[in-house]
Amino acid sequence: MADRSQVHAKNAPGPWFVDTTCIDCDVCREHVPEVFARAGEGTYVKRPPATPDEERRAWLALQACPVACIGSEGGKRPAEATFPVPIDRDVWLCGMTLRETFGGQSYFLKRPGGNILIDSPRPAGSLHKWFTSQGGIADILLTHPDDVAKADETGRKFGSRIWIHEADDVAFATDRWRGKGEAEVRPGVVMLPVPGHTEGSVVFIVDDTWLFSGDSLAWDEDTGELYAFRDFCWHSWPEQLDSLVRLAVKKVRWVIPGHGRRTPRHADGLPEELARYVAKMRKKR
Ligand code: SF4
Repeated sequence: MADRSQVHAKNAPGPWFVDTTCIDCDVCREHVPEVFARAGEGTYVKRPPATPDEERRAWLALQACPVACIGSEGGKRPAEATFPVPIDRDVWLCGMTLRETFGGQSYFLKRPGGNILIDSPRPAGSLHKWFTSQGGIADILLTHPDDVAKADETGRKFGSRIWIHEADDVAFATDRWRGKGEAEVRPGVVMLPVPGHTEGSVVFIVDDTWLFSGDSLAWDEDTGELYAFRDFCWHSWPEQLDSLVRLAVKKVRWVIPGHGRRTPRHADGLPEELARYVAKMRKKR
């Protein structure tokens, strides 16, 4: 629970505040950039929410924060400020994040033949209740080990199969992909190995529309470009670039990462943008 006595020094007056235990995961700033801002490696409220929509998103940020360091005094959470939130058709942002995943985002996909969870949310009762109302979770697909925390708990609750690449193995996985080839998880859901960030990193392409990119690719809203995490590349940056080259033949509409911003604007542009990015990075070597 957020502690008013440890409020960030730059925090604006008002009921909303962030305390100094913030881990700088960026989740709240993604939800409400109008309200939350970065200072050093912390976050503060630059001004209180000014509209009902900002208020709703600020309440989402408060619930999403992995270390519960956002406070709101005296207000009441609107009913519509509830996770998960829809992103596009049958894709939902689970929202509730964990310290262990450094605020990594996870996603719920409503699918014929059983619903899918991509990476692991906080196993909050409200989320689990909603998953149950949607028919539960048949498969948990893990992009890499950084974002698996508590997947075992959710998997146990719903009797889900838990998938990961063997090069990034976790003890509680029930199913493992092997080798370097892509695999159809089930109709419309394809797993593609993209070693680089970790040796066993994978991405998922669903219905040729959504690319769930884990920590292998994200969108930078400041530059308007796609990018990979060179400073947080644990296995091999050259392999990461090679993986992006393989990815650059795919056409998808959305890039949906674990960290960093989502973008819905890459219909036919993904191959060209990725090729451009890789060429730029290779020149920097
Ligand atoms: S979500 Fe919480 S931990 Fe993450 S940047 Fe915001 S205040 Fe900090």
